[in-house]
Amino acid sequence: MNSPVDQIKERLSIEDVVSSYIKLERTGTNLKAKCPFHNEKTPSFFVSPDRGSYYCFGCGASGDIFTFVEEFEGLDFKGALRLLAERAGVTLQAYSKDRKEAESEKEKLYRVMEEATLYFEKNLTENKQVQEYLKARGLTEKSIKDFRIGYAILDWRLLYSYLQKKGYSDGDMEKAGLVKKTEKGYYDRFRGRIMFPIADSSGRVIAFSGRIFTDDGKSAKYLNSPETPIFTKNAVLYGLDKAKDSIRKNNFSILVEGQMDLVLSHQAGYKNTVATSGTALSDATVSKENIKENIVTNLGVVRRLSPNIVLAFDADKAGFNASNRAGRIALSLGMDVKVAKLPDMVDPADLISKEGPDAWKSAIRDSKHIIEFLLDKVLKDCGEDTRKAGRLIKENILPYVDALESSIEKMHFIKKISDSSGISQNALQDDLKKIEQEFKYEKKEIEEAEENLVTLYRKDYIERKLLGIALWKKNKELLKLLGQAPEKYKDSASDLIFEAEVFYGSSENLEKDIKEMLENLELEHINEELLLKMQELRMIKNKDEEIKLLVEIQELNKQKHEKKNKTKK
Ligand SMILES: [Zn+2]
Repeated sequence: MNSPVDQIKERLSIEDVVSSYIKLERTGTNLKAKCPFHNEKTPSFFVSPDRGSYYCFGCGASGDIFTFVEEFEGLDFKGALRLLAERAGVTLQAYSKDRKEAESEKEKLYRVMEEATLYFEKNLTENKQVQEYLKARGLTEKSIKDFRIGYAILDWRLLYSYLQKKGYSDGDMEKAGLVKKTEKGYYDRFRGRIMFPIADSSGRVIAFSGRIFTDDGKSAKYLNSPETPIFTKNAVLYGLDKAKDSIRKNNFSILVEGQMDLVLSHQAGYKNTVATSGTALSDATVSKENIKENIVTNLGVVRRLSPNIVLAFDADKAGFNASNRAGRIALSLGMDVKVAKLPDMVDPADLISKEGPDAWKSAIRDSKHIIEFLLDKVLKDCGEDTRKAGRLIKENILPYVDALESSIEKMHFIKKISDSSGISQNALQDDLKKIEQEFKYEKKEIEEAEENLVTLYRKDYIERKLLGIALWKKNKELLKLLGQAPEKYKDSASDLIFEAEVFYGSSENLEKDIKEMLENLELEHINEELLLKMQELRMIKNKDEEIKLLVEIQELNKQKHEKKNKTKK
C-alpha cells in the first residue's frame, strides 16, 4: 500500500492546498502570488502544478504541500500530516498503531495534555457553580463545548493522581507543565481555576491558560502553562485554530486580550478573532531581547492569513501599552492596523455580554486606523491646550506615522494630522525626520528579526529533514556532514526517523532529494552568515574594519547568487 504521504499527494494538488491559503494568479503553466513568507509588493512566489512544488525567488522558500502547511501554519511535520490527512480523507491510524512503543516524547506530551483537557472538561460538567458563573458571563453551552473549557478543582493533587492512574509518569506530567515538584512531592499547577486549553493550528492542545475561580486574594488572575517542548509562547495565539479559516475568508483579523473576550467574540459571530492571552504579546516574563522577535512571529502568523487587523483592547487600561508595541510593529510589517471603538473602561467580553452582539458589531464596524484613533484621543484629551496637543502628537503619534511602510500613506496622515490639529505640515515633517532617526535602529531590528526567523526556520527545517534520513538509513557520511545537528536534535530522533520514513519511504529520488537539500542548506548557512555580518557592520566604528567587512559581505552575496542560480536549474 502507498504511504499516507503518497495517498495525500494523490488527492490534494499543490494548487488546491496553496490556493486555500493565498490567492494565486495564473502565469503560463505556473501560478504566482505575493510570497506569504516574506514581505513583498510584487509577486515572486511561484507554484508549479506539474512538479507539485513551490519556489520563492525573493526569500528562497521552497517545497511541497507538506512544507507549505508546516511553514504557513507553524506546525511540525506530524501536525501538517494530521491536517492534510483530514482534508484528503486519508486515515492515519495504521501508522500510529504500529509505532506505539516508539512513541516520542512530544507525542506523549500531546497525549497527556489531551487527557488533562478531558479531565478538566468532566470536572466542569460536574460543577454547577462554575457553570453558572460562565453562563452569567454570557457563555453558551455550545461555546463551552467548542472551546473545551474546563475546571481545575481547588485541591492539591487531583489531576496528579488521576494521570498517575492512567499510567503517566511524574516526568511526563512535569514536562507538560501540569504539575510542580517540591520536597514533599508533586502538586497540581492549576488549582481552583477555569481552564482554557490553548491549541496549535491543527487543534492539538499544547498549553492551558487558567483563570482564577476561587479568589484567595493572593493568586494571579491568570496563570499560563510554562514553556514546554510542545509550547513556545512566541509561536501561538489563543484561538488561532478556530479563527484561521474565517480570517482568510473575511480578510481581516480581530485581536483581543483575554480568553473571555475571544470566546464571546466568536459567539457573537466574529470567528476571525484571536487573543494574545498566554502568548508573548501579553507575557511580561518573556525576555526583553526576544520580545520583538516574538511579536514579529505572532503577528507574522496572522499577517500571512490577512494583512488587515483590528485591535480591540480596553484603551484606558494597561492593555493599550501592549497594543502600542504590537500596533507599531504591525504597521512596520506592512499591515493595515485599526482600533475598535470600545466605550471607556469596557472590555469586549463585557460589551458583548451586557449590550449584545450588535454593540460589538458596531465597535468593529466603527474601528478606525490606529493613527486616526490616537489623534482623536489626543485632541479630545487636550481640548484647547494646543501646545500640549503638539507635544503629544510628536511623542505618541508621529512614531506610528514613521512606522508606516508607504510614503504615500505617510503624506496622507501628515496632512490629516495637520488639518485636524492646526499644526503646519512643514513642522510635522521636520519632527517626523527627527523621529525617523530615533527609530531607525528599531526598524532595522524588526526587519532583521523577520529575516532571521525565515532563515533560522528554513535552516533548522532542512537540517532536521536530512538528519531524519541519515538516522533512518544509518548513513554515516550524511551524519558527518550535519555537524552539531545530531546532538542538537537527539531528543526528537524518533520523530525525525518517523518523518523520514513516511516521507521518503517510497521515494525513488532519495539521492537527488538529499543532494538538493544539502545545496539548500549551504545556501541557508550563507544567509545566516550574511545576517551576522550585517549586524556587525552596524556596530563597527573603525573605517578599515568596515571596508574589510563590506568586502566579506560582497563575497558572500556573490556566493549566494551563484548557489541560487545553480539550485534553480
Ligand atoms: Zn518569499
